[in-house]
Amino acid sequence: MSAEEWRPVIGWDGYYEVSNHGRVRSVSRVVPHAAKVAVSVRPRPLKQTPNARGYMQVGLARNRTHRTSKVHALVLSAFVGPCPVGMEGCHEDGNPANNQLDNLRWGTHSSNVKDQVRHGTHHTARRTHCPSGHEYTPDNTIRKSGRRHCRECTRIYRRNYWLTKSA
Ligand SMILES: [Zn+2]
Repeated sequence: MSAEEWRPVIGWDGYYEVSNHGRVRSVSRVVPHAAKVAVSVRPRPLKQTPNARGYMQVGLARNRTHRTSKVHALVLSAFVGPCPVGMEGCHEDGNPANNQLDNLRWGTHSSNVKDQVRHGTHHTARRTHCPSGHEYTPDNTIRKSGRRHCRECTRIYRRNYWLTKSA
């Protein structure tokens, strides 16, 4: 693994830095406080939390501005450059939590999906429950043209359909 290198987060110069190892930290600075006593902020690594698809996110804050950002986008923007039109952040190994610079690239959506399918980490392949929270057990799974459908949801949908019909 290469040595850890820190660069300013694009658009947050003087507030946050991101490293080629996929870590994000606040920058040491002095902030004026409402009570007129300056408070110094020490550098600290930001807590990263995965979103529903397993992408690690950090919360950035400046004055009253708050933003949730995906870590891979911060790494790529700082070390590679802005996202080219029509591209998105791709993880070579298919692991959305691995935000090492050498695992990331800007690529097309279809190349990204291919990575995920190749590694078995495609979000729909990995998902164990339907959007309503029913488990994809063999009994509850309907396979139609390569996609999974939830039997329970289909049943509820049909019942509601006939209820509105008869009302
Ligand atoms: Zn369901």
